[in-house]
Amino acid sequence: MDKGFAPKVSFVSLGCPKALVDSERIITRLRAEGYELARQHDGADLVIVNTCGFLDSAKQESLSAIGDAMAENGKVIVTGCMGAEPAQIEEAFPGVLSITGPQQYESVLDAVHRAIPPLHNPHLDLVPPQGIKLTPRHYAYLKISEGCNNRCTFCIIPKLRGDLVSRPLADVLREAEKLVKAGVRELLVVSQDTSAYGVDLKYASSRWNDRDVQTRFLDLARELGEFGVWVRLQYVYPYPHVDDVIGLMADGKVLPYLDIPFQHAHPDVLRRMRRPAAQDKTLARIKSWRQQCPDLTLRSTFIVGFPGETDTEFADLLDWLDEAEIDRVGCFKYEPVAGAPANTLENPVAKDIKTSRWNALMARQQKISARRLKRKVGTRQQVIIDEAGPAGGKGRSKADAPQIDGSVHLSSRRPLRVGEIVTAKIDRADEYDLYGSVAGF
Ligand code: SF4
Repeated sequence: MDKGFAPKVSFVSLGCPKALVDSERIITRLRAEGYELARQHDGADLVIVNTCGFLDSAKQESLSAIGDAMAENGKVIVTGCMGAEPAQIEEAFPGVLSITGPQQYESVLDAVHRAIPPLHNPHLDLVPPQGIKLTPRHYAYLKISEGCNNRCTFCIIPKLRGDLVSRPLADVLREAEKLVKAGVRELLVVSQDTSAYGVDLKYASSRWNDRDVQTRFLDLARELGEFGVWVRLQYVYPYPHVDDVIGLMADGKVLPYLDIPFQHAHPDVLRRMRRPAAQDKTLARIKSWRQQCPDLTLRSTFIVGFPGETDTEFADLLDWLDEAEIDRVGCFKYEPVAGAPANTLENPVAKDIKTSRWNALMARQQKISARRLKRKVGTRQQVIIDEAGPAGGKGRSKADAPQIDGSVHLSSRRPLRVGEIVTAKIDRADEYDLYGSVAGF
């Protein structure tokens, strides 16, 4: 059959990098079965909306995406985090074809098959072995597990996604190998809690290249480090064994970058959040990490206005930030998530106080970030190119994760190529970005 007759699916992917990985898996399967992707809802045979249900604002965004798909197309399949609680969707859009929760790839595919049966054509069934990436070809997210064993009181992810389920290490390494063979230069390791990797499997061994590898955080980092590409660890919970990977960072095996969502620094707030509360020790650990690996970049997220947060607790957080000198910070005003235990805590913080605390934290952090970036002026940094033009481009240093961190703006005497890694001389810095010129290829 002519390629033009292949059924077309329009896909909307909302939410975090973990949801993006789910979307990629569904799309890979659909492409393997001969479905085509449509650029617009209008004219597609159906629409799949992969939703995010983490915060109420994300739910609103998901509902409005479903609404658009219903209005522009009418045949809509909903999946993802918000699909784990279908009542709200059913009520707003009774005509939706099917609603499933996160990672229910099979159910999504079944629903697609029911609505528009697949074509079987060897020419259409061809799909690149590394799957379809929604991320640019030079970097890719590598999801190592689903779910989470922690029970932070502000979070409903364990309720939505269940307890931790890790992929055996050999499985992850096979996927990483395919990606690297297909040209990926940077692997971003994601999960809800990357440092807990393998706990559920009791660190079971699996077979990789004629030897046994253990499903364990340190082994994961070490083995990925052997592929010779950038490896970035994201969403690491501050367990003591995280100290072990700093040596791999100092040796250049994995990027000297850790994304650890600390969420707060005051022990009482952390206790109410049900997060580990040894923040003094954390400061000492950060110092020793930096001694061992001076180039280490730390990214973190914090929540201000958590129920019961006092002026003193907040002031302590600001002081802690000054001491810890976290390089990159994302800050959220606490938002009650339906079903989260934190909603029942006493003394919610008023909206205007949340806003003023958010402003204060961001202003403080901007100074820290600017100070830390300024140290890079005059240095040489490796930069991976994300956007290329005839006389320069934009990329990221080892300190910058895509989409959430800053960029390096570069001038260049020869045209740059997306995905190549160049050496850049840094001439200038502002609060978030670096500026410089290419000094070597
Ligand atoms: S670590 Fe806490 S915030 Fe992160 S997914 Fe698990 S329960 Fe939620």
